Amino acid sequence: MSLSNDFYSKAKELIPGGVDSPVRAFGAVGGDPLFFQKAQGAYLTSVEGEDYLDFVMSWGPAVLGHAPQEVVDAVKKQAESAFSFGMSCPLEYDLAKLMTDTIDGLEMVRFVSSGTEATMSAIRLARGFTGKDQFIKFEGCYHGHSDGLLVKAGSGVSTFGTASSAGVPEGYTATTRTAIYNDLESVESILRDGETSAIILEPVAGNMGLVPGEKDFILGLRKLCDQYGALLIFDEVMCAFRVHEKTAAELYGVKPDLFCFGKVIGGGLPVGAFGGRKDVMEKLAPLGPVYQAGTLSGNPLAMAAGIKNLEVFLRDKVWEKTNDLGKSLNDKVQKLIAGRSDVCFTQLGSMFTLFFKETLPKNMDEVGDCDFDRFGRFFQFCLKNKILLPPSQYEANFLSCAHTDKDFDHYVSTLEQFLKEDQ
Ligand code: PMP
Repeated sequence: MSLSNDFYSKAKELIPGGVDSPVRAFGAVGGDPLFFQKAQGAYLTSVEGEDYLDFVMSWGPAVLGHAPQEVVDAVKKQAESAFSFGMSCPLEYDLAKLMTDTIDGLEMVRFVSSGTEATMSAIRLARGFTGKDQFIKFEGCYHGHSDGLLVKAGSGVSTFGTASSAGVPEGYTATTRTAIYNDLESVESILRDGETSAIILEPVAGNMGLVPGEKDFILGLRKLCDQYGALLIFDEVMCAFRVHEKTAAELYGVKPDLFCFGKVIGGGLPVGAFGGRKDVMEKLAPLGPVYQAGTLSGNPLAMAAGIKNLEVFLRDKVWEKTNDLGKSLNDKVQKLIAGRSDVCFTQLGSMFTLFFKETLPKNMDEVGDCDFDRFGRFFQFCLKNKILLPPSQYEANFLSCAHTDKDFDHYVSTLEQFLKEDQ
């Protein structure tokens, strides 16, 4: 029995399923989960002391690699003066300034502690601003686990086969309307009654594997929102700073009314944020009638980590590096799989997905055509070769500027071997 098995057995006694977030249990790919003790650069070290090449990267935050020295130093320095004030501190302004200066259309921003809080609060704000209750989300987009958003979500919710969740009263999802990703007609048919407060989406979806929005689709959503008086909310918790130097909004040349952020802006500490149009944000308490709050919101340790992560990202032009690395990986994989009909690969910036199907999916239904059993075998094969993938076909992979071409060669030769052995 390995040390991980040991920790897992003990954890299962006290923590449901032994994990604090379901996908970590490896349920979709079989086998017991690994437990880790260290994360550095592009590698994780398991409790057994084995190094794994990491393509999870904490599901997105670690765009500089794990534990970059400058972020470590910033957090240490902040810890010397305060963990939490429960009151305001200048660091909140500093991160707000950095983000609003960097992101076009982000006029005001409020910090929370997770992506879930960011999307939940953005929806409430959109409702408060427009005076309408309904909103539209897309099948396969995941926006965290708040009740109204756990409808036809991707990510772990798909992995576990629950389109929704037990414990969510019907009334809580009665105002959630779902449309098909990359299908404008499915959106307009809902909008026609004029009851929609907002459309929320991942402009580049990462929670059904990597499925980018098509340009006409994203542009069309902006037009439809204007036409029907709904706010457009880009959930960029995952894709900001990963599919573009700044946001997916810039990638498409479309300005949403509200953004949601998380992951990279917290540098691995718990941070989320939502923001956008000033006239909309001013509806938030204490200025306006829409209530939203948090004991640890704007937490100084988290702010210090986020500021340094983002500063280094922008200063060192990390986007250019991760984008080049992504393209290099893409070239290598495309070369290997050229002419095959059992597997396809897509990459955008520092995100990528290998789908076990013939052609790239455009929506959740098409992701459903993948060979999930084969993905599970590929996951295990990679693990044996000391590569950690996100443990589900529904998840995007992440790389960082700490990854190297040598790492990619290892991934590609592992894939090559797998495709030979697993006919
Ligand atoms: N939105 C998106 C697009 C996400 O990918 C996630 C998490 N993966 C969330 C929201 C929720 O964020 P958190 O897990 O921090 O609550």
